[in-house]
Amino acid sequence: MPASRPPTTAEELRGAGLRVTAVRAALLETVRSGDHLRVEAVAEGVRDRVGHVSLQAVYEALHALTAAGLVRRIEPAGSSPRFEGRVGDNHHHIVCRSCGAVADVDCAVGEAPCLTPSDDLGFTLSEAEVIYWGLCAECSARPSAAS
Ligand SMILES: [Zn+2]
Ligand SMILES: [Zn+2]
Repeated sequence: MPASRPPTTAEELRGAGLRVTAVRAALLETVRSGDHLRVEAVAEGVRDRVGHVSLQAVYEALHALTAAGLVRRIEPAGSSPRFEGRVGDNHHHIVCRSCGAVADVDCAVGEAPCLTPSDDLGFTLSEAEVIYWGLCAECSARPSAAS
């Protein structure tokens, strides 16, 4: 009798139509346990798990997992791309202008697109990507933050 348990990382990769490799499995685990990681931090986490891996291989795995919908890529203006494992829930992000900290903000409505323009110009809309910009609590508390 099969016990009910959450799928393993390998099963999730296979379920998304991907070939299972050690790098991809390590990458998915790294991104999920991290917090909006930059590519360098993703590479570090993958190397901690499986040993030396080229940055190119990390990029390729990131691309495959992002395309398969297992990893989400966000790219705040002026920042390097960040990767996260929280996918498919249309959540938004809040970004600190000063230190670049990124945090999740739940979608106001709960489903995409949560914002509707006054005129959709005939487009069928699927998503609204919202980034809230401001200063994080730490940077706000710093006296020089406003400069
Ligand atoms: Zn900050
Ligand atoms: Zn997020």
